[in-house]
Amino acid sequence: MSKPGLGILEKFSAHLDFIKKDTRIISLNEGDTPLIKLDNLSNKLKTNLEIYAKFEGLNPTGSFKDRGMTAAVTQAVQEGATSIICASTGNTSASAAAYAARAGIRAYVLIPEGKIAAGKLAQAIVYGAKLIQIRGNFDDAMSMVKQIADTMPITLVNSVNPYRLQGQKTAAFELVEELGGSPDYHCLPVGNAGNISAYWMGYTEYLALGKSEKTPIMCGYQASGAAPFLKGEPIKDPETLATAIRIGNPQSWDLAVKAIKESNGHFKAHSDEKIIQAQQLLASTEGIFCEPASAISIAGLIQDIQEGFIKSGSRVVCTLTGNGLKDTDTATKFIELEPLLINADIKELAQALSNI
Ligand SMILES: *Cc1c(COP(=O)(O)O)cnc(C)c1O
Repeated sequence: MSKPGLGILEKFSAHLDFIKKDTRIISLNEGDTPLIKLDNLSNKLKTNLEIYAKFEGLNPTGSFKDRGMTAAVTQAVQEGATSIICASTGNTSASAAAYAARAGIRAYVLIPEGKIAAGKLAQAIVYGAKLIQIRGNFDDAMSMVKQIADTMPITLVNSVNPYRLQGQKTAAFELVEELGGSPDYHCLPVGNAGNISAYWMGYTEYLALGKSEKTPIMCGYQASGAAPFLKGEPIKDPETLATAIRIGNPQSWDLAVKAIKESNGHFKAHSDEKIIQAQQLLASTEGIFCEPASAISIAGLIQDIQEGFIKSGSRVVCTLTGNGLKDTDTATKFIELEPLLINADIKELAQALSNI
């Protein structure tokens, strides 16, 4: 059983063989995120499904990346590293910067110019990372940091670092423990494809240990303009307003394909319009504000229900990967956001309230 008040490495050390008795754990008490039952949404969609959101946006830096980063940075420090590097669409840089600060080491971050949500950029800057913008996209930045990590004494903490997935698999452990078993379906966004691979690792490990009786069907969703898995090969110029999944050359390709195949799941693509609609629907029906990339879990869920891929009566978990507050610009761009302005007069207020 998990213990409260600890980070994921201490809680799940029995399933993380790189954590030794004397390991200095670099943690911000990540994990233990709420699993929220979405009955309003289920009613609105007129289904009899049990739908849950695993709100990973409530991790210390506001995304699931913290699970992987506590592991990658702990191991880097254990190996004597004094600096880490990553390419990022935003959340990895925020997380790497925070855990590096916690560890007292240096974080170098490569980001695609102009394609980072303001909140994420602010985080990396305030946490004290050394930021470098690239005139290129995430995939360009990724290929550069891989080459640097090969030739310089800097630890790469993107999800090609195997400790990232080790940390991220703990989200599946938490789900199984809280639900008393595996869900029937698991819906989540796919960008670099590390997270879907990590969840699958977690689910299959718990199955092998007899801690669950089955594994879920994995549903991996990509933005229509950034959907290499739908094309069957990497794409050159990925485009979507869900910047966290604006990736054309996923690094965990084989592991993600394996997760989909072994679970009898599927990859699906969804338009930016559907993503934004889903973000607003979730916020206004359930009071949960996630970022656009995360909302694709809900957009995909809705389509998979409509098309009958998700069978009635099932239990479904949607991972909400990041917090909506990181990217308020995208969220409000599509909403008429001109609040009514009145004088500080009680009669005007009463009038206004009866009109809106
Ligand atoms: C990183 C990220 C993703 C994509 O996860 P991958 O492991 O790269 O597939 C999705 N949503 C958010 C908010 C992210 O930060």
